[in-house]
Amino acid sequence: MKRDLLLMTAPVRDSFDIPCHEIGPKAAHPAAAFVAGLHGDELNGTFILSRLADFLNGVEAGKHPGLKLLKKVLIIPAVNVLGINLRSRTWPFDKSDMNRMFPGNVSGETTQRIALAVLEATKKAEYRVDLHTSGVDFEELPQVRLYSPSDAQRATARHFGLTAIMERSISPVFTTTLMHAWQVWPGQSFLLRVGQGGTVQLGHCQQVFRGLVAFLGQTGILAGVSLAEGDEDICHFRQGSSKRLYAGKAGTFVSDCQVGRWVRTGQELGYIYDSFSGNVIEKVEAPANGLLTGIRRHPLLFEGDLLLRINPKS
Ligand SMILES: [Zn+2]
Repeated sequence: MKRDLLLMTAPVRDSFDIPCHEIGPKAAHPAAAFVAGLHGDELNGTFILSRLADFLNGVEAGKHPGLKLLKKVLIIPAVNVLGINLRSRTWPFDKSDMNRMFPGNVSGETTQRIALAVLEATKKAEYRVDLHTSGVDFEELPQVRLYSPSDAQRATARHFGLTAIMERSISPVFTTTLMHAWQVWPGQSFLLRVGQGGTVQLGHCQQVFRGLVAFLGQTGILAGVSLAEGDEDICHFRQGSSKRLYAGKAGTFVSDCQVGRWVRTGQELGYIYDSFSGNVIEKVEAPANGLLTGIRRHPLLFEGDLLLRINPKS
């Protein structure tokens, strides 16, 4: 069922709503809550969650015999709904970052009221998932991010079936994110980072879609999912384990390397060309053996820009 999470009026335009999907058996709180589009240019997450809502609505309508939703699922595919319309990362009226507005405020600015509505709807869920992408210049391997996790959370993170699980400590600086606001509630919170901003990357989206369905199966929310055997391909990367490579020189960076490949030290991963003469300025080589978890996609390079990130097998 689609409902309005929040209906708001706007100056000199029609009122607008932030829609969400409530699917499955009626309950006071959802068993799983999925959120995307806090940043309006992060389209992979919005696409994945809209497809997940379509799929689960299909399950409810009996289109997938053998599958059954046992508990309620809440899906908010696009929090920054106006930003998405305008291709804007931030909230269009005041350029504020919606992921710096939590826990929100009932009598605050529009963005604070939206933040409060999102938190209220999701905070009592057993499992909470917030989807993001990297920026528009950089592509990241679809990954689970954990912030100062418990062992139970580490175990649950494997249910997504994604190759990379990355640990971070809770930031003492960014205390106004949705993830931070969730952490004080019982239940488990996960952040998924999927690909690059500003575009829909079908391969990544399909992989994460399958991951979310597997997650719902493994957590007993969706019955009848055939679950893959074994998860030995999943790598758990502790904080500080990634090797970053920065550009030594400015130029045009071109690479046909795909994220998610295992690379060897010294392996050629791309080239920096002189943007005018076209000659090769620098061969870009892997700084370590490991998994290529992120690579720059914007070709124009300044000295010191991050080129790529590799995570050695732990
Ligand atoms: Zn984001």
